[in-house]
Amino acid sequence: MTTSATESGLLITHARLATLGEEPALVEDGALLIEDGRLAALGATAELTARHPDAERWDAAGQLVFPASICAHTHFYGAFARGMAVPGEPAANFPQILERLWWRLDKALTLDDVRYSALVCLIDAIRHGTTTLIDHHASPNAIEGSLDVIAEAVQEAGLRASLCYEVTDRDGPERAQAGIAENVRFAKKLAGSGSQLAASFGLHASLTLSDETLVACVAAAEGLGLGFHVHVAEDRADQEDALRRSGKRVVHRLCDAGILGPRTIAVHCVHVCDDEIDVLAETGTWVTHQPRSNMNNGVGVAPVGPMLRMGVNLGLGNDGFSNQMFAEMKAAYLVHKLAQGDPRAMPGDVVMNLAYANNARLARVFWPELTLGELSEGAAADLIFLDYQPTTPLTVGNLPWHLLFGFEASAVTATICAGRVLMRDRRLLTLDEEAITARSRELAAEVWQRVGEQ
Ligand SMILES: [Zn+2]
Repeated sequence: MTTSATESGLLITHARLATLGEEPALVEDGALLIEDGRLAALGATAELTARHPDAERWDAAGQLVFPASICAHTHFYGAFARGMAVPGEPAANFPQILERLWWRLDKALTLDDVRYSALVCLIDAIRHGTTTLIDHHASPNAIEGSLDVIAEAVQEAGLRASLCYEVTDRDGPERAQAGIAENVRFAKKLAGSGSQLAASFGLHASLTLSDETLVACVAAAEGLGLGFHVHVAEDRADQEDALRRSGKRVVHRLCDAGILGPRTIAVHCVHVCDDEIDVLAETGTWVTHQPRSNMNNGVGVAPVGPMLRMGVNLGLGNDGFSNQMFAEMKAAYLVHKLAQGDPRAMPGDVVMNLAYANNARLARVFWPELTLGELSEGAAADLIFLDYQPTTPLTVGNLPWHLLFGFEASAVTATICAGRVLMRDRRLLTLDEEAITARSRELAAEVWQRVGEQ
């Protein structure tokens, strides 16, 4: 077994295919032909084996074959926070969480930490079937070259990722400049490479960005074809700051600065008013929803229902939580019901739509040629095998509820990205999990030490 499809292709047989896409179907005893990183044919096993006798075979033995997950917003750099004791009193609000946890952790990262922090997230992503990730990076004492280090890890893993560096004024003008330069340098390096890597222009959030820095970022991004990737109104503090600074609410401030548009990602948008939702919809700006993070930080519940009704482009991210998008979907399904006291809120098919159709559309901002989030002829060969034996009838119509109440990411036994097999029978083929995990533990302990000494 090689890790990539041979010349005559890789034929997956005896699978239960869940295609998703515009004409979703469940194909029993189905087969898939992978050629050149794409799905070349789908159909019945008997038919495809007869048509492609020379293709390398892989018997899925009745497993569910499903499109791989896409994560619309994450932070590889946050991996070492797992289990870290945060010095001082427990944070009582979101600004304190930033100051006491994240702005200490990111300052303690070296380029080697950045590499291993990314690698452990990429292992997690492969294990749990997420092949496309949109990352937002910060390491204020190791800015230059940090995106290259992450890019190398992504290439080693064999996944797809869009990367950016978060520009902020919180560490002084020199580091703000260095952040701008890193975004520009990386985007220019990638330009036209057509690889599994892509770039956006990272900004932290309105509350740590002056008008002058926003102007500098817009000027630097000009001509590079980049959208921005910025946290928006995650907490009330962002709105209070924007009103104090500019007399405008966050979305209006960013819109006036030229930050919004169909290539820009506005992360969270928990505290946006109807006027701001209108602006997000009119500008075609992407909003991403991260319910696990919002619950963890106690910042509130994003108005996802109103945003969807008003035509906002909306995807689902994880904000650095585990790369098990099934877990994020479950959180999204539950939190709106609780918050609104209404079990009709956030139906299962809407959650599925965010995670697959919408996230796939967002991925096209970075990979315009690719069809992701579905199994169809010509789509990217990004898929997973799930060892899932339904205990009730499984149909196209009730698939979202099987996913929400039945699927566990631990049932993923194989992960394929761009036709390359990254995990087979739960064994990783591109990354040395044991060695990476051992090194990550050592580096994380050193990072914690430095965080304690700050
Ligand atoms: Zn975030």
